[in-house]
Amino acid sequence: MTNNTYHNQTASATAHIKTECPDCYEKRSKSVCKSCGGNGIARFYYNAIKSADNLVTKEKRRRHLKEFANYLGLNYLQELATFFRIKGTDEDFVYLEERIIDFVVKELREKRRSANKTQAGYLSNLQRSYELNRDTARRIPWDIIRTEHLRHPVGLKSCEYNPYEHSKLKILYDNSNLQYKAILAVLVSGMRIGGLYENITFENRRKYPDRLHFLKIKDLKLSTAGFTSDDMRDFGLALPGYTDVYRMIIYADQVNAKTGRSEQYPCYCTPEAFSLINQMLAKRQREGELDAIDKKYRDLECWGYA
Ligand SMILES: [Zn+2]
Repeated sequence: MTNNTYHNQTASATAHIKTECPDCYEKRSKSVCKSCGGNGIARFYYNAIKSADNLVTKEKRRRHLKEFANYLGLNYLQELATFFRIKGTDEDFVYLEERIIDFVVKELREKRRSANKTQAGYLSNLQRSYELNRDTARRIPWDIIRTEHLRHPVGLKSCEYNPYEHSKLKILYDNSNLQYKAILAVLVSGMRIGGLYENITFENRRKYPDRLHFLKIKDLKLSTAGFTSDDMRDFGLALPGYTDVYRMIIYADQVNAKTGRSEQYPCYCTPEAFSLINQMLAKRQREGELDAIDKKYRDLECWGYA
C-alpha cells in the first residue's frame, strides 16, 4: 500500500473531526465568541498552525492532530486542549502523557506498523501544537517519550524503493508517442520532474508568482551555442564523433520573490533525448502547430499538448 492511498483512507476516517470552534459551530455563543475571538476556528488548532509558513507543514499538522483526535474519540480539534482536564490537578497531565504514548505505541507502531521516522513526525507535530498553546508546555516530557517510546516496529524492513527497471521503462517507451518518448528520454537524462511542468501551489506563489512553470522551446539551447567556427573545428578535433545536445534552461527567468535570487540553471540532455526532441518539434512543425502561432511559438510549452 502506498502512503498516498493510506493518507486517503485516514482522511476519510477523520473527515468528521471539525477544525471549527465548537461554540460557534453549535451556535452556543450569541455575541462575539469568547472561545475563538470570533474567527470561528478552534483556538487550539489555530494556535497550532497559524505560524506555520509552509502549506505542506500545515496540512501535515492538521492531519496528525485529526488522527490523534480520532484515536481519542473526539469530534472537535478544540477538545485536544480540554479532554484530559478531569481532576484539575497535575495528574491530568500524566493522563495526557499516557494517551500520547498510547497513540504512538499502540496505534502508530503496533497497529499501523509505522516506521520510527513516521512516529517521530507525529510526535513532533503534537509537541509543537501543545507548545504553541502554551499552557501545557513543559508539562509533558517530550524528550523522554521520544527516547523511551519511539521504536521501529519489530520485523519491519526499512523503506523499500521500487524504481522502474529497464524492461519496464522499455514497455513505457515502446508504447509512447513521439512526445512522450522525448519526455522519457529527457527524464532519463536526469532532469528533475518539476523542470518539465509544474503547477505552483497557492502557498508557494508567494515565492514564485507564476501559476505554472514549464520548459519552453526557447529554453532549449544547443550546447555549442556561441562557438565560433574555429571553436567548432577545435572541438571536433578534440571530440571526434561528438553529437550536439541541448542545454536546457530550467526555471528560465524565474526569480525567487523572497530572496530576489535567480532560480534558473542549465541541465544537459543526452544525445538520444536531443534527437527525439528534434523529431517531435519537426513533427509538430509539419503538422502546422508551430507555424500557426508564428514567432510566439518559442514561448510554447516544449512538450505541446498531448
Ligand atoms: Zn467561537
